[in-house]
Amino acid sequence: MASEFPAPPRFFVLEEEVSSSRYDVEVEKVEPVNRSDAPHCPRCGDIIGLLTWLPPYRVELELHGQELGDFVRSTGYERLISERFADAFRAEGLTGLEGFHPVEVVRVRCLRKRPRHSLTVPRYSVVWPCFGHAAVDLVLNRVRVSRPPACSECRATGIDAIHGFVLEPGTWRGEDIFRPRGMQGKVVVTERFKDFVNQHGFTNMRLTPTEQFVRDPDGLGPAPLPSS
Ligand SMILES: [Zn+2]
Repeated sequence: MASEFPAPPRFFVLEEEVSSSRYDVEVEKVEPVNRSDAPHCPRCGDIIGLLTWLPPYRVELELHGQELGDFVRSTGYERLISERFADAFRAEGLTGLEGFHPVEVVRVRCLRKRPRHSLTVPRYSVVWPCFGHAAVDLVLNRVRVSRPPACSECRATGIDAIHGFVLEPGTWRGEDIFRPRGMQGKVVVTERFKDFVNQHGFTNMRLTPTEQFVRDPDGLGPAPLPSS
């Protein structure tokens, strides 16, 4: 019997919509803002993320667009998600988000004139995409790094330019949303997560296949292909 290998899993970079979009919003944390230490690599001890927000979770929102989306980028590694999003995420058994603590929206400032009481403010929760085991492939990428990573666990390094990336086969452990080793500043999701977003029509989420994800503020171009 002929056996067919399943297609390798596909991954996408998750971001909020571009600024000046319909859902453009800024989050300001309300004092007192408490933070715990930054997360460290369990092996080398290097810092692999930003300081973690602690209660009380209170924010002011400054809406530049027209409505509030289901997914809002905050300062730091936190993301705010709507109740609709949080409920569906849990009901459908997706994995990789931590937190789910309710956030109190103290005030919403609208920068555009709008009819009174015409704005719906979702109940937001704060979540953190987990640090995944999946690692950015060191060989197959067109990523320019400032130095080769010294630690095989966190693979922390400075990233100067990204011209697509792939994850090292066999390193992913099944989370639907995570921060990959070697690129902890990016949030990566699975095809299942992408389908979930599309089915529910969640707003303010932009998904780019990792192979097509480009970030090159200094115009450095792709890293040269490894010489064989
Ligand atoms: Zn490390």
